[in-house]
Amino acid sequence: MEIKGPKIKKYMEEFIVKPGKDIKLKKFNTGWAIKEELKKFDDSEAKTKAQEILERDKDRLAKAQELLYADKSYALLIVLQGMDTAGKDGAIRHVMSGVNPQGCSVSGFKVPSSMEHSHNFLWRYSNCLPQRGMIGIFNRSHYEDVLAVKVHPDRLEKLPKELVKTENGTFWDWRYNDIRNFEKHLVRNGTVILKFYLHISKKEQKKRLMERFNNKDKYWKISPFDVEERAYWNDYEKAYEEMLAATSTDYAPWFVIPSDYKWAARAFIAEVIVTAIEGLNLKYPEVTKEQIARLMEAKKKLESGK
Ligand code: AMP
Ligand code: MG
Repeated sequence: MEIKGPKIKKYMEEFIVKPGKDIKLKKFNTGWAIKEELKKFDDSEAKTKAQEILERDKDRLAKAQELLYADKSYALLIVLQGMDTAGKDGAIRHVMSGVNPQGCSVSGFKVPSSMEHSHNFLWRYSNCLPQRGMIGIFNRSHYEDVLAVKVHPDRLEKLPKELVKTENGTFWDWRYNDIRNFEKHLVRNGTVILKFYLHISKKEQKKRLMERFNNKDKYWKISPFDVEERAYWNDYEKAYEEMLAATSTDYAPWFVIPSDYKWAARAFIAEVIVTAIEGLNLKYPEVTKEQIARLMEAKKKLESGK
């Protein structure tokens, strides 16, 4: 049986990275004109409209999540990647704000610890996967191991030398392959995977970093390291392009989300998530006649007692 990917709407296909095709991120929009129904508006009208869509989708998401939780056969894994300041934290806060926290887990991944480096590279992510019924969000993910590590090969863990042959791209091809297989395994076991690359322009990043440097309350969110990383922008872009082309699959597609306008990105992400869960056609678990009879007996007992 062919493994199925998440359900999406026709217009969302535009943002999906076609499996196995080379891509150029410069050809992907970073602006907001993402939906036909939004294209006719100017910036401020579009913002209002996008916020309406987000509010509507938050309600739908709350209902969809309850069904996912009650049904307990599927899990949903949401992967968020993007350059610094792309809006990963904000997307989580806004999109998930209506969701029952009991049905949701968020895992953020920083530079791996020595403990984590002493295991295979997928180990730490495997430990954080959502259980059936749950939505698990990865704020950065196993993709860092073919992004940050590819841009900075000195960050690679200690591996046997003969396994790190970077000529011909073998080492990275293995990693892409491992990731595809890891995700295939998850999908075959009932995890729906949605992967979002929050696509911002270099100019927008500068603006957002400057906002942080100019606001004392945002100092905790920046480091001189962010400015140093920015110098590797082109290397990151190339690593992203190679990774997106190699790991977008029918069963676990990558969406390139135009993210220069945060409200547009959030509305779009919410739409994709809601569509994917609703597309599972879940139903509340059936209650048998015997179970109903026992429930009614218990009700009677409760009514007649103190
Ligand atoms: P932030 O999310 O801004 O707090 O930054 C976390 C940092 O950890 C980023 O610079 C990531 O590139 C880095 N990071 C996350 N995962 C890995 C990894 N597996 N290997 C190397 N660096 C990583
Ligand atoms: Mg950062």
